[in-house]
Amino acid sequence: MTVLVTGGAGYIGSHTVLELLDAGEPPPVVLDDLSTGFRWSVPEGTPLVVGDFGDADLVADLIERYAIDEIIHFAAKIVVPDSVADPLGYYLNNTAKARALLATSVARRVKRFIFSSTAAVYGDPLHNPVTEDEPLKPVSPYGRSKLMVEWMLEDTARAHGLAYVALRYFNVSGADPKGRSGQSTPNATHLIKVAVQTALGLRPKLQVFGDDYPTPDGTCVRDYIQVTDLSRAHLDALRYLRDGGANLTANCGYERGFSVLEVIESVKRVSGVDFDVQISPRRPGDPAAIVAANERIRRTLGWTPQHDDLDEIVRQALEWEKRLMARGG
Ligand code: UDP
Repeated sequence: MTVLVTGGAGYIGSHTVLELLDAGEPPPVVLDDLSTGFRWSVPEGTPLVVGDFGDADLVADLIERYAIDEIIHFAAKIVVPDSVADPLGYYLNNTAKARALLATSVARRVKRFIFSSTAAVYGDPLHNPVTEDEPLKPVSPYGRSKLMVEWMLEDTARAHGLAYVALRYFNVSGADPKGRSGQSTPNATHLIKVAVQTALGLRPKLQVFGDDYPTPDGTCVRDYIQVTDLSRAHLDALRYLRDGGANLTANCGYERGFSVLEVIESVKRVSGVDFDVQISPRRPGDPAAIVAANERIRRTLGWTPQHDDLDEIVRQALEWEKRLMARGG
């Protein structure tokens, strides 16, 4: 049994590779085009194939060569504003290429498929914490590009017997507690990354996008899930499917939210730096609040968070950013 990890050189993919290895699984095969991932984030002894997961011939060849019977599919474009500017690029990369990957998986008899979905499929939810049964109304091409893959998976599983778990990620954050990987995208726009970079003097100030939302302090509320906890959910999902578990779509979050101002307070507290904060206009497309209901993933996968602590997450992000600075960016 070999696992193929698309996007295994990226942020969540690289942490999941570490999680698989730490659990004593044989090294997976990583397929990554290195557009946003890094060669150095793939551990030694884990084969890295640099290529396009939408290349059916390449994927078919890898499935044969490495006897792949499970795929964890991370590779995707994930920047919401970019998806608004370039929807067809997102539908090509996230949707059409995923279709090609699924077709090859079915043709080559891959047994199990784990898919990186997103809380963006809910858009601006009416209820929080949001359960998986909430109406799916993505507001961005990014969210739609992922939701279409959920639908393809459902239909493909029904027609061809592919077993799958789709995990809807909330706000992924933090870094490997052992310091082996972290969020390394230089111009990442994620709040914790930006705040940590501001605390370290890499950015002049932090902009808060809107303080007039209908939330307790007026700033947006998000469910920040630590990346190792999220990675473990993928391992739990594989084990669940290997044990014959039914196809599943589940939220991945902690069922608790923090506002932008609370995150900023945590970064100031943990770093000891009181940096400048500027209240700015709302960012288009931001839901006021989105927090995961997580009863389903806890019950079905037995998933239990181990790093559900905002200050710990911030500390990990800070430590990782310092490592990146030490290595020159
Ligand atoms: N945010 C902010 N300033 C920043 C980056 C983000 O105020 O420099 C806010 C953003 O508007 C949202 C929250 O922080 O309300 C989380 O944004 P992020 O981009 O981290 O994740 P998203 O929820 O958009 O996936």
